[in-house]
Amino acid sequence: MKSIVPFISMLPKADIDQWLKILKKKLPKERIVKFSNLKKSDYKKIDVAIVANPNPTEVKKLVNLKWIQSVWVGVEKLVESFKSERVKIVRLVDPEMNRTMSEAVLSWVLYLHRDMHFYQVQQNKRVWKEADYIKPSKKIVSIIGLGELGSASAAKLIENGFNVCGWSRGKKNIRKVKSFTGELGLKNMLKQTDILVCLIPLTKKTKYLLNYKTLSYLKKGASIINFARGAIINAKDLVKHLNSGRIKHAVLDVFEQEPLPKTSILWKHKNVTVLPHISAHTDMDTASSIVCKNIKMYRLKNRIPKSVDMVRGY
Ligand code: NAP
Repeated sequence: MKSIVPFISMLPKADIDQWLKILKKKLPKERIVKFSNLKKSDYKKIDVAIVANPNPTEVKKLVNLKWIQSVWVGVEKLVESFKSERVKIVRLVDPEMNRTMSEAVLSWVLYLHRDMHFYQVQQNKRVWKEADYIKPSKKIVSIIGLGELGSASAAKLIENGFNVCGWSRGKKNIRKVKSFTGELGLKNMLKQTDILVCLIPLTKKTKYLLNYKTLSYLKKGASIINFARGAIINAKDLVKHLNSGRIKHAVLDVFEQEPLPKTSILWKHKNVTVLPHISAHTDMDTASSIVCKNIKMYRLKNRIPKSVDMVRGY
């Protein structure tokens, strides 16, 4: 008899149907069902669930659940919901996601590096004026978070001639990347930074990591890109630094409240680019293959893939 693997999600119905279709195709030996189609008597039979923004109350009904496979990379909401449970959380690690994010990082670093925003503003005013050109080898791009996404982005920036620094919990030995750790390391890195890229998970330790004080360490005229989570940066403090000119421009893809409320001053700030959380989406094709491979390996070897460290929160 087939084992049941529920897909638990609060996504729109059309998205859920698409996930179900592809998961059923790639996991023919399992019975993939959405939570609402489970019978109460099924609950205790389930040891693994696949989730995409699930309702935690539904997940908690599965009393014998050993692990949750997320189809997303960022798992801060799952960590918060299951911090006192013994269930393991496995997040998505997908080379295709790393590629997409590093492409977004390179694109927006080049946007800032080649002053595209400045020229757009000039065109609106019919102004013909050159900005100084500084080559990539004279610029330092620093990445906060040197994990899957940060290290892939570092490699792409190096390929394009930038000097790259990175900040992480543990010291890194990545070719051509200057590694920084700790509070002092963060300060020393920010002091040299022309463009700061944020790719760190949201945890208790990283909430408002970038605040008035830490942002003031940045080199005058530096720019910032946030592709991680909104609450890593204190937006009010960022605006103060943008208004004073200490920070030149901010490219923001993530916000504490999404969609960004219409009343937010960020929409209209002349030195802010607002993006609707598009830097890197889960690719359903590659992600479903990885998720299904994890479940097949679990059935075969009874081995749960590397799970989130619930104390660290990532
Ligand atoms: P990851 O592989 O877990 O890497 C996390 C990095 O952050 C690691 O280098 C880690 O240091 C560092 N770190 C974590 N907490 C730290 C702390 N307190 N102090 C110093 N360094 C710390 O994560 P990832 O796959 O690269 O993903 C990063 C985040 O990107 C996700 O959590 C998610 O929020 C976000 N994301 C956003 C989008 C989007 O569309 N905007 C898409 C996907 C993901 P160590 O290496 O030393 O452990």
